[in-house]
Amino acid sequence: MPTTQSAKGKKSSTNRRQFLAASLSTGAITVIGAAFKDRMAYADVPYIRADFISPQYYDGSEGEALLDVLKEKSPFRYYGPGNPVKVKNFESALGEYIGAKYPLCVTSGTAALDCAVTGLEIGPGDEVIMPAYTWWSDYTCVVQAGALPVFADIDESLTLDPLDFERRITPRTKAVIPVHLLGGPCDMDPILEIAKKHGIQVLEDAAQCVGGSYKGKKLGNIGDVGIYSFQFHKMISSGEGGALVTNNPIVYERASRFHDMGVQQRVFIDRIQESRVSDFAGENFRMSEFTGAVLGAQLPKLDAMVSDLRRNFNYVLDGIKNTPGLTLRKRPDPEGDIGYGIFVQCANKEARDRFIAEMGRQRVGAGRISGSVLLPIAESIMNKRARHPQWPSFNTPQGKAIEYGPDSCRQTLRIYDQFVQIRIGPKFTNEMNDRMIDAILKSHATVA
Ligand SMILES: *Cc1c(COP(=O)(O)O)cnc(C)c1O
Repeated sequence: MPTTQSAKGKKSSTNRRQFLAASLSTGAITVIGAAFKDRMAYADVPYIRADFISPQYYDGSEGEALLDVLKEKSPFRYYGPGNPVKVKNFESALGEYIGAKYPLCVTSGTAALDCAVTGLEIGPGDEVIMPAYTWWSDYTCVVQAGALPVFADIDESLTLDPLDFERRITPRTKAVIPVHLLGGPCDMDPILEIAKKHGIQVLEDAAQCVGGSYKGKKLGNIGDVGIYSFQFHKMISSGEGGALVTNNPIVYERASRFHDMGVQQRVFIDRIQESRVSDFAGENFRMSEFTGAVLGAQLPKLDAMVSDLRRNFNYVLDGIKNTPGLTLRKRPDPEGDIGYGIFVQCANKEARDRFIAEMGRQRVGAGRISGSVLLPIAESIMNKRARHPQWPSFNTPQGKAIEYGPDSCRQTLRIYDQFVQIRIGPKFTNEMNDRMIDAILKSHATVA
């Protein structure tokens, strides 16, 4: 989810503008017309575009923490010549921040999903429901476990449609992955109610919403297990990195074992007091002390990132919210949204494209919704290609029968085509916010 501000192309604006104004006032070039005049009005204003969030908050603390690791000569989380504490401390701090009992740091959000699926004991024969518009990893974690991914449509919140989730449930459905997308929480109350009614486990993917909440609860800590990503496009970042949280000791033990060869380390047993699970085949998704150092320095800044984003988001929202005919993304909990961007719903794809072009003309960044993939129409998915032709996911009767492709996600395709994404930067000035408001209102008037 690339974001922020750039202020390029700011040279000699006064001269050109004065020249243009003078020329126009003489009437010498009135034939050129209003369209040209209007285009020139934006020619020299800086382009407003949201940029990556985490580096905007780098200060001395990340560097100091990295140097600690070097001085200690201990880049490995469990032991070294010095005293490695960075991953352990960040892990504990994250658990406290989220309010979850058992946190686990791993190498990426994708690895966290693999651990979460293992924690929930999802495997061959199981079906897992996820939104049709999300990141690859929600699909791959299910396939890697040998289980079958089932897509449900998104609604106007751009996240899982609870009604369609319920429609896709079968006796084999073991879990659902609500994905809090583009800074906005899913509507967790109906999702939890449906999951409970059908005995389905809930794996929250909060990779794109670190720091967000739903009705006062931090995202990722509402279902049975939750995951985060600290990759560069997300909120706090160390370039790559991820974490999982849960309050269930068995899920935690399975996940923490899977992340480290299937064996158990003292630090994780200490958190859950006693071991309840035997060794099994795992992976190596251990986080490095360098990663833990940067994340430990970033975490204390997360609340500032979120409140800066929300401040600018609310400023822009105030300027556009009472505009007749202007429809915005549905927000299941406006308080918990991290204010990542303004999402305008147009009548159709053509209107969306005109809206985006008009924003561009006014030199304000806008585009289609991004950062995820329309998974059911991805070529590898339509062709059900796993790492081996005999892979269990697509060789059960259900796996053979399932059909992905456009007919499996019509509502998602329609909604995707309607939305314009206008990203908010946490450090935008009010002058920039005013230009965003102006551009949105003018683009809306052009399209309406
Ligand atoms: C980024 C992302 C992931 C995966 O995180 P990585 O750290 O890139 O592996 C998973 N889910 C969603 C919704 C994401 O945006």
